[in-house]
Amino acid sequence: MSTPTITKTEARLIGHIIADQEANRADEAIDRRAPGTDEVVSQVLAGGSAEVAAAVRAARTAFDSGAWPKMSVAERALYLNRVADLIDANADQLARLDAEESGKPITTAEGDIGGAAGLWRYAAALALTMKGQTFTGNGPDYTGLVLREPVGVVGLIIPWNFPALILSQKLPFALAAGCTAVVKPSEFTSSSAHLLVKLIAQAGVPAGVVNLVVGDGRAGQALTESDDVDLVSFTGSTATGRRVLAAAAGNMKKLSLELGGKAANIVFADADLEDAAAGVVHGVTFNNGECCVSQPRLLVHASVADEFIQEVSRRMQRVRVGQPLDRETQLGALIHAPHLKRVKSFISGAQEYGGDVITGGQPLSDAALGKGQFMAPALIDRVAADAPIFQEEIFGPVLGVTRFTTASEAIGLANGVQYGLANTIWSKNTDTVLDVAKALKSGTVYVNTTIDAPPQMPFGGYKASGIGREMGEAGFEEFTELKSVSIRTGKRVNSFPQTDWEGVA
Ligand code: NAD
Repeated sequence: MSTPTITKTEARLIGHIIADQEANRADEAIDRRAPGTDEVVSQVLAGGSAEVAAAVRAARTAFDSGAWPKMSVAERALYLNRVADLIDANADQLARLDAEESGKPITTAEGDIGGAAGLWRYAAALALTMKGQTFTGNGPDYTGLVLREPVGVVGLIIPWNFPALILSQKLPFALAAGCTAVVKPSEFTSSSAHLLVKLIAQAGVPAGVVNLVVGDGRAGQALTESDDVDLVSFTGSTATGRRVLAAAAGNMKKLSLELGGKAANIVFADADLEDAAAGVVHGVTFNNGECCVSQPRLLVHASVADEFIQEVSRRMQRVRVGQPLDRETQLGALIHAPHLKRVKSFISGAQEYGGDVITGGQPLSDAALGKGQFMAPALIDRVAADAPIFQEEIFGPVLGVTRFTTASEAIGLANGVQYGLANTIWSKNTDTVLDVAKALKSGTVYVNTTIDAPPQMPFGGYKASGIGREMGEAGFEEFTELKSVSIRTGKRVNSFPQTDWEGVA
């Protein structure tokens, strides 16, 4: 990829796209300021219930009477692969839009876009495998067909931290299954979704199959409440997830909720400590720490704690904080000023609970960072398990350390939060790794690596981290319904077949 230049651009107008028609006028638009420069880079129309209703109507028509759900899976896969090729061809622009609007380092955004193209290709391959089952073991004249069908019209609500990537964790899987969709990106990062929806049209996907409504939570709420939407797949905070759960009750739509996390890195004394230190720093600074599987808790065995914390501190001080579009940057700008303030408040909050700030958190004086939302990554030792820094999602580059002496103590600490999205184990002992991995209450466990899983692995949360799975075969199946068709051949003689269990309650 070529190096994107850092230039001031005109603010982009980002509108809705409904049945391939772009709406670019509205009474209300939301200014998006780049987190790195505080300049307005885009203006996003504030969609509401009228735009959502129009988009859902378009998706409904495309599903009920359009070609998409009836198409052969081979044909659908062809379209998805074309979209993947167009993502590759437009990778520089997509990465730049995501880095500029989210504040993530451009190199991270480039990784996201490569990953997004891969997800479209993987979903194309899954489309080819779409199948049901048969059951013939209920008498010689019985055939049971289990049909797998697309669930219908889906609403996809996306957060700001991985705009194009999380969109691609949902949309191609829904399309592979034969669903039609209304996409609602975050109001902070709508530009890459806007471009992606245009690329999908360019790939030849029929009008109305994918629709875009931009705007804030009002548009998301309207989509969740719509009686004409069959499934909502939401990624965002646990607080908003609870609102989505309540709003979806009207028509009992299916739900997939990918919510917050509070992962722990558990470092045992027999780990490769150098590898683990590098992983721990990556785990809390990757994507500015604004990552659902970010690792803001370090649980370290007391016997190696002092030496290990020193190494982590040394590495954290070397992390290059800089403008998101600068290729040398490892930690960019946080999403907006209130978020930066909240992240920093965890540092002072930890001190009130007896925490000891080892490094970071201080204001940055580098002139190149101007008006942006930057902070040095912070390391805090002696974090108490009841402190907010241990319990709440921080979503920034702040790492709290708690020491343990036994594996069961480490498991108790790791599981002692409301979340259950991911955890990491660092140990070279197979017994320790397997025992701890089985005891952890999280949808993902990384071992001697972190934030590292291919799309074949299902992803989702235990407890308040969500409902359902994304990616893998399970993620594809979320967008399908099963229909059981029971067939008797031959003639019924005066009665229905007698079975021990009639199958109807
Ligand atoms: P958020 O909950 O504030 O917003 C997410 C999306 O929901 C946005 O598009 C927003 O406009 C929309 N929204 C807001 N109010 C709504 C409502 N009442 N009804 C429907 N939609 C509404 O989250 P965020 O700040 O954009 O993202 C950060 C959060 O997302 C973190 O908590 C993070 O852990 C979580 N996240 C989870 C995963 C995962 O896979 N589990 C991945 C990434 C991010």
